[in-house]
Amino acid sequence: MSDSSDQSNTDDQPGTQPENAALPEPFPTDWTRCLILVAHPDDPEYGMSAAVARWTAEGRSVVYVLASSGEAGIEGMAPEVAGPIREEEQRRSAAHVGVEVVEFLGFPDSRIVNNTELRDAIADSIRKHRPDIVVSLYSGPEFAPGFPNQSDHMEFGDAVGAAYDDLVAAVGVDAREGRPQMWFESDPQPSHYVEVTGFVEPAIDALAEHKEYMSVLDPDTPVREQARKQVENMVAPVEGLAGGNPVVGFTRKRP
Ligand SMILES: [Zn+2]
Repeated sequence: MSDSSDQSNTDDQPGTQPENAALPEPFPTDWTRCLILVAHPDDPEYGMSAAVARWTAEGRSVVYVLASSGEAGIEGMAPEVAGPIREEEQRRSAAHVGVEVVEFLGFPDSRIVNNTELRDAIADSIRKHRPDIVVSLYSGPEFAPGFPNQSDHMEFGDAVGAAYDDLVAAVGVDAREGRPQMWFESDPQPSHYVEVTGFVEPAIDALAEHKEYMSVLDPDTPVREQARKQVENMVAPVEGLAGGNPVVGFTRKRP
């Protein structure tokens, strides 16, 4: 999430599992390197960071690459001031969940477009980090009825998919080197889940690092309280899944 129009998305999001959907499967474990590609600072913290904390605790490598620095995201603050603040908040946030590499691609916050330049930058990141799996943002139109997704997220998610497909086509489906094996989106109707028992607190710590952003978003609620509420909502147990323990959902897009 980033620009101020996000407010409707970040408050009281509904549960993420429709009653009649098939239950998600456990997330694959046959991988060691994950590249997380998102549009803005704090995007990893609104959904996937508890899973990231588990993955890094298991000895897996996770890298964050962000399209923008979130410079348009703090209302009343000039972009040239907000950008560096948000980058620093993202680095501190990543450290709570064991992510040491955080890169920013410099695309314009709130004006992200699925164009050649963006797809090339994403493909370069994939080649550079050589992940086994890529995880990106949910690119669908709504998180739930009445909770629309942001244009930046949809454009970016689509660009990740296009870049992934182009890489696979270029390298060949049987080649192991130079292409990821799987692509997931952080998704409100997930096909897979990660149980995150024991990893909710670091996820709250991670979100609470976005102090400037959150204190402007809701000046009346302490940042840590906001973070706890958001994260507990995002990892809410799903009936019949993981013994009723907290979970993070993802949808497998490829292969
Ligand atoms: Zn965002």
